[in-house]
Amino acid sequence: MKKYYITTAIDYVNDTIHIGHAFQKIAADILARYYRVKIGKENVFFLTGTDEYGQKAEKAAKESGQGTREYVRAISNTDKQQQDSLNISYDRFIETTDDDHTKVAQEIWKRVEQNGDIYLGEFNGLYCTGCEAYYAESDLTDGKCQFHPHLEIKKITEKNFFFKWSQYQNFLINHIKNNPNFVVPESGRNEMVKFLERGLKDIPISRTSFSWGVPVPGQPDHVMYVWFDALTNYLTGIGFLDNPKQFKKFWPADVHILGVDNLRWHALLWSAMLKSAELELPKTILVNGFLGINGQKISKSLGNVIRPTDWVEKFGADAVRYYLMRYNVLTEEGDISEEKLRVAYNADLANGLGNLVSRVAKLCETHSVIASETKQSLDPKMTVHLENYKFNEALSHIWGEITDADKKVNKEKPWELTGEKLNQVLLDLVARIQHIAFNLQPFLPETSEKILKQFSGKIKSGSPLFPRI
Ligand SMILES: [Zn+2]
Repeated sequence: MKKYYITTAIDYVNDTIHIGHAFQKIAADILARYYRVKIGKENVFFLTGTDEYGQKAEKAAKESGQGTREYVRAISNTDKQQQDSLNISYDRFIETTDDDHTKVAQEIWKRVEQNGDIYLGEFNGLYCTGCEAYYAESDLTDGKCQFHPHLEIKKITEKNFFFKWSQYQNFLINHIKNNPNFVVPESGRNEMVKFLERGLKDIPISRTSFSWGVPVPGQPDHVMYVWFDALTNYLTGIGFLDNPKQFKKFWPADVHILGVDNLRWHALLWSAMLKSAELELPKTILVNGFLGINGQKISKSLGNVIRPTDWVEKFGADAVRYYLMRYNVLTEEGDISEEKLRVAYNADLANGLGNLVSRVAKLCETHSVIASETKQSLDPKMTVHLENYKFNEALSHIWGEITDADKKVNKEKPWELTGEKLNQVLLDLVARIQHIAFNLQPFLPETSEKILKQFSGKIKSGSPLFPRI
């Protein structure tokens, strides 16, 4: 593999992202950092950002008393700060109100239109403003959207441009069935096939009842349906129109990671749009599970929203990254709490990794050990786990190595040794710690850098990596 392009969902700007969103951003960041080590920094592109158009953003801006653009930029900035606090190493943070994005969304519209897949029609149906999505009666549970049971479903009648989604039904079924890695995990793939087999209907892709959107080319009364513009951000991000060379290098995306509520729009609508525009489809759509907190859904109305910065300020970015990825399975639902974070911090980071590093560094300092500059490599077991999105197993594997190194210290008792034997034991421990730190780079970027620095040249003891909390 010569390049790796990974994207996250772009978050909607009706509110700042919370710790549940961070799960997905950290997963993407781990993959981006891992591939930078594996294939070189210049061959990896990592895109994240915010989705800023649509009725929901317009409404939230009105309620806040700010201008719409001012409002969405403010939320986007706080989202960016939240991601920065976790050391999310994106190459671009895209905002769909960026100028280059408008041009790309319009270009894709034109290509789809030239292909005969857009027509003017009238929409009569149901709409959830929470999802910004159209639904059929059969999609609803007790007359409500499954993701927004507290919102009223609206009945809408409107003249819209439609996308001939139905034309792509067989193409999509075949593509999903023939490409087992196209939708991960398998449960998501099965859900998409089932949905397709019920039949795809054409979908309205323009709106005339509000104006906060990308203008439809040549149709001043219409703005694009927010999903139609938002999905094209993955093309904009790598310079579809402005940097064809970069675009050619990175497209198609290797992984779009997103939450289960976004799966249908990516696996089915985005894929059909790309096919219509004669562009390649992404290789993998990876669905992350939702996290709950203390057994509840994370929600503003329940008052249990935790921002990434709330925990980063108490425990540090690496500890939050570690806890979320070690104790949840990426593709499954999980449940988190500050108490569990504290337990993981003290047991695995303070007592586990931190204690091993400080014990060995102290012994090395006492005996003036000089670390050898061996070229480090990625652990093959970790590689397999990571490339199969088993982050928890990759971390378990590395923590197994930490436990082994600890056992080695206890068994060999270097404080009772002298001469060549002592030197041998210490050099072996140093090599193990270097290997552990090197392989932790994607997960704990700050900590692994500190350890690699400490264990190069003349080794000195330092302040604890994770003081007990
Ligand atoms: Zn909804």
